[in-house]
Amino acid sequence: MIAPLKAAAETASAPAGTSIKVVSEATCRRIVTRSAAFTAVEQVFGAMAKGDAVNFPVVREAIGHADALYGFKSGFDRSRAVLGVKSGGYWPGNLAKGLTNHQSTVVLFDPDSGRPAALVGGNYLTAVRTAAASAVSIAHLARPDATVLGMLGAGHQAGFQLRAAAEQRSFDKVIAWNYHPDMLPSLASVAAELGLPFEAVERERLGREADVIITISSSWEAQLMRDRVRPGTHIACMGTDTKGKQEVDPALVAAATVFTDEVAQSVGIGEAQHAIARGMIAADAIIPIGAVINGTHPGRRSADEITLFDGTGVGLQDLAVASVAVELAEAEGLVSWVEL
Ligand code: NAD
Repeated sequence: MIAPLKAAAETASAPAGTSIKVVSEATCRRIVTRSAAFTAVEQVFGAMAKGDAVNFPVVREAIGHADALYGFKSGFDRSRAVLGVKSGGYWPGNLAKGLTNHQSTVVLFDPDSGRPAALVGGNYLTAVRTAAASAVSIAHLARPDATVLGMLGAGHQAGFQLRAAAEQRSFDKVIAWNYHPDMLPSLASVAAELGLPFEAVERERLGREADVIITISSSWEAQLMRDRVRPGTHIACMGTDTKGKQEVDPALVAAATVFTDEVAQSVGIGEAQHAIARGMIAADAIIPIGAVINGTHPGRRSADEITLFDGTGVGLQDLAVASVAVELAEAEGLVSWVEL
């Protein structure tokens, strides 16, 4: 059970007055395990489905400087008293400066007073919470006998995705396709670390051979086609998080039972946006994965069903893992205090 942030703020180690806690990127990387992220994300998806946690409207704007896209995702999980915002975005020139292009920081607030409670590095947390979301979907929706994991995408997120997915089923092989084949060796090295045989394959073979497929690319057109995917496959669509992006054939979305983190985002910015726009599925056919977690929806109903998780990425995921980071950092004496 994760203690609410409010309880952590009342520990004896907190200096009196107006200090806030700071948890660095390096500390998050050290203490927030995949397992802790999985538990936090699963809990918050369940709370969302019960109406105990709510995401507020997302803001994302081109700022007209450095080609940057800036925005924030905010929300409140009443069940754990976690209130906050993840702010940041995409700075395409960062790599040349030795920084990652995606930058984010989480600010947590005391829900009783509105005072800032903690400042938490958000870059590692974004990757680990995104991987946790697809892992939660695999845990709840993939066939128990799944053995071949297919990866579409090989960028920054892909290694995190592969590591988290590998813990959910007894996979005996990873097959992968990427738009830029030269990026595949780094994913192959993650598979090697996990002791999993790895094969770079043609796109068509992904659907023909994989039992679980994770799509995690920044594609703007369908890469995985309906007629190439076998019955019984579970697909975690993780790359499409913006209007216009697309990784899978709308006909594949229409043929699947579609689950999501949040229906509004799935319809507006997620993979389902294209099938919705073509009238191929209705928004009310999309099932919050929290309903499966809470036991109010059965999830997969047969071994032949194609299940698809549209993981759009919600602010509450970020807040959930950030509050875990604060709790764990505090327990290990790794929190810095800053006077505000
Ligand atoms: P990255 O820049 O490190 O990697 C990009 C990936 O997309 C690579 O595999 C690259 O080969 C591929 N790619 C680039 N252009 C392509 C094209 N035209 N067609 C097909 N593939 C193309 O990015 P990343 O950090 O690994 O993120 C991957 C995607 O995941 C992005 O779209 C990002 O916005 C999204 N994302 C989603 C969430 C979420 O919660 N759902 C969270 C973080 C990132």
